[in-house]
Amino acid sequence: MSHSTNQSLVTRKALVLFSGGQDSTICLAWALQRYGLVETIGFDYGQRHRVELSCRLAVRRELTARFPWAERLGRDHLIDLAVLGEISATALTGDAEIALRDDGLPNTFVPGRNLLFLTLAAAIAYRRGLDVLVGGMCETDFSGYPDCRDETIRALEKATNLGMERDFEFATPLMFIDKAASWQLAAELGGDAFISLLCEHTHTCYLGERDQRHRWGYGCGNCPACELRARGYREWREARV
Ligand code: ZN
Repeated sequence: MSHSTNQSLVTRKALVLFSGGQDSTICLAWALQRYGLVETIGFDYGQRHRVELSCRLAVRRELTARFPWAERLGRDHLIDLAVLGEISATALTGDAEIALRDDGLPNTFVPGRNLLFLTLAAAIAYRRGLDVLVGGMCETDFSGYPDCRDETIRALEKATNLGMERDFEFATPLMFIDKAASWQLAAELGGDAFISLLCEHTHTCYLGERDQRHRWGYGCGNCPACELRARGYREWREARV
């Protein structure tokens, strides 16, 4: 990798793929503490948990109000991707129950979603003069999503840089850590105040459930996303004491 060798981090500008979920909020805090300017991008593709979209605004507001490093937060881009909902009938965009398919992939898998997100983000970054694309993809907890693999992201980074004649870096700070370690990273980034922001204002539950507040945040408590989040929180707390 050639990038970031001759350019100090603070002169770099980042675009964070920001859904309003826990992982992308941690990525946003991570980016705000490294880069000189950080913009955010989100996609509206008719996802069932549309509550995430309103969480995005709440998280941006709370970060700005509570953390001095959030002064580097720049503008937000919300991209209408209704076409993605049209071409992929999955449990995230349709009414189907969340379940494992015969091939072992969860039916929440939207084919090509991260490829599309990163490609569109790169197009925005190109226009805005931003250098780094930051995403919360993680192959450790991996849910079987092939577009979360590091190999996928590195290949797309290369294709994008070839296709746009740029030297973008695709940064994925959560790629090789599990959920417990991502809670720990959050604590290191912003202490208890940031942990409480994560629990109160982010959203990860596949069902869009926000009636039940658990120690780890809001959610149904039973879907794969809630189970992963709850287990990570429990393991992180236990490792702490
Ligand atoms: Zn849930």
